[in-house]
Amino acid sequence: MNGGENMHELSLMESVVKQLRASAAENDIKKITRVLLVVGKMTMAVPDALQFAFEVLQKEDELLKGAVLEIREEPVRCECKDCGHLYEAPNYEFLCPSCSGPNVKIVGGRELYIDFYEGD
Ligand SMILES: [Zn+2]
Repeated sequence: MNGGENMHELSLMESVVKQLRASAAENDIKKITRVLLVVGKMTMAVPDALQFAFEVLQKEDELLKGAVLEIREEPVRCECKDCGHLYEAPNYEFLCPSCSGPNVKIVGGRELYIDFYEGD
């Protein structure tokens, strides 16, 4: 860890691991082998830092040891409330590219959830 730069991802990963633990306990799973995490661009979480945080957290952890983390990034998506145009906004384009209107709603890119996980 350098200067707390990865703290955002570490705390996000801690809550993901907490959810995994709760779900595994509920489903009587002793070992998790694979996790697919969906991460929206607007969470500002860096995939490499999430991977690193996961590696830190899974060490010495019987449930998570050896599990593979896969990350699927979701783009920022917007919908224009004036013309209904739906578009991706990789650079946070909050003016509608179709009608140039400013009444744009963010409809995607804030997600952070476990899509699924596998284990025994
Ligand atoms: Zn529009």
